[in-house]
Amino acid sequence: MTVVVEGCAVVTMDAVRRELSNGHVVVQGNRIVAVGDGAAPSYDGARVVDGHGCLLTPGLVNTHNHLYQWVTRGLAADATLFDWLTTLYPVWAGIDEEAVNVAAQGALARLARTGCTTSSDHHYVFPRDGGDLFAAEIAAAESVGLRFHPARGSMDLGRKDGGLPPDDVVEDRDAVLAATEAAIDRWHDPAFDSMLRVAVAPCSPFSVTGDLMREAAALARRKGVRLHTHLAETTDEDVFCRERFGCSPLEYADSLGWTGDDVWLAHGTHFDDREVKRIGTTGTGVAHCPSSNARLGAGIARAADLRTAGAPVGLGVDGAASNEAGSLIEEVRHAVLFARATGGPEAMTVRDALEMATVGGAEVLGRRDAIGSIEPGKLADLALWRMDTPAHAGITDPVAALVLGTPPPLELLLVDGRPVVERDTVLTVDEHALAARVAVVHETLLRKARR
Ligand SMILES: [Zn+2]
Repeated sequence: MTVVVEGCAVVTMDAVRRELSNGHVVVQGNRIVAVGDGAAPSYDGARVVDGHGCLLTPGLVNTHNHLYQWVTRGLAADATLFDWLTTLYPVWAGIDEEAVNVAAQGALARLARTGCTTSSDHHYVFPRDGGDLFAAEIAAAESVGLRFHPARGSMDLGRKDGGLPPDDVVEDRDAVLAATEAAIDRWHDPAFDSMLRVAVAPCSPFSVTGDLMREAAALARRKGVRLHTHLAETTDEDVFCRERFGCSPLEYADSLGWTGDDVWLAHGTHFDDREVKRIGTTGTGVAHCPSSNARLGAGIARAADLRTAGAPVGLGVDGAASNEAGSLIEEVRHAVLFARATGGPEAMTVRDALEMATVGGAEVLGRRDAIGSIEPGKLADLALWRMDTPAHAGITDPVAALVLGTPPPLELLLVDGRPVVERDTVLTVDEHALAARVAVVHETLLRKARR
């Protein structure tokens, strides 16, 4: 199958950041085979997409999420992270395969509608009688059709041992390691055009023991997969680490082997100058989640400083319980606005922000060779944004329009060369039927938690 998109502006995000005001891109199978100015040469039997009035960008890459939270949105709406967590843990304790599958489909369909072609997930709640939740979210990603990087999360530090989560949602350390290894063996695909890669992801310093962090890192490195965790999200976490371990969250992570170019950290909101430098020199990735950080009043990551220091920085929506919108294109806008609100007008350009959402995210997930830019030989993950509706018509620079304007409709979203969204409608799942199922699961979980 050959797909030709022509007549559109193109932002390639290639090595020289080439932009075309009227260009074309040709896709054969799951690969990009040509990118150029003007109309495309003709290809026999190709589907030709008229891109006039549109902007073509690489598909966006979401580097941090908790898909199951799509069915627990809107709770503890005005709380701090620790209060929000203690309110939500009992609700999350009720999740099962059905809840996770419905939530993941809902969250991924929304991500697709907002330009996302690759999403990671960090699933760390495994109730004892919940069933195979990892398989349930993988099935959801397959049905929606996004490229998927699920991370097998875990918690083993319950309240009785000084942790934050209740004891009935934590797991035994050996069971965690065995289940994580089994998940890698069963699901992880290292191929260039992989649709599914697994990472190892103990949850956070206040819900995981140091022993599990250390052994999880060793497991990931033995298996050649990436490592992911939450770090330095709030000042409460900083206080927790200093009281319990006598050091900052990053010093703690460093002591456990949790820095390096195979590690990516969610948030990284509270790093001092020395730590920003350390993140950069170790090549540790950061998933910057501006909306979630703002929703929980956690502060804002020093994304521009981290990039200057040499760290790969991508964007993430985070779980929908702390970002009810779950929209990846809105994170690009928020990244610019919050960077400038705290760092002045030159703190971040609109193109820097779009770069984080594309090549930056690809680098954070270890996929820079295959996704994140529009170049011949790369995978056909593309977003074609409609920029000629009343919301955007008349804005000369389509990148400024995309990043600073309201989220535009998607004319077409290709993942691995296959259409997932067309004319702002998800093709792979029925969004309205899904929304009704999400509402039912949400109510069921609240009823269970009250019992
Ligand atoms: Zn998170």
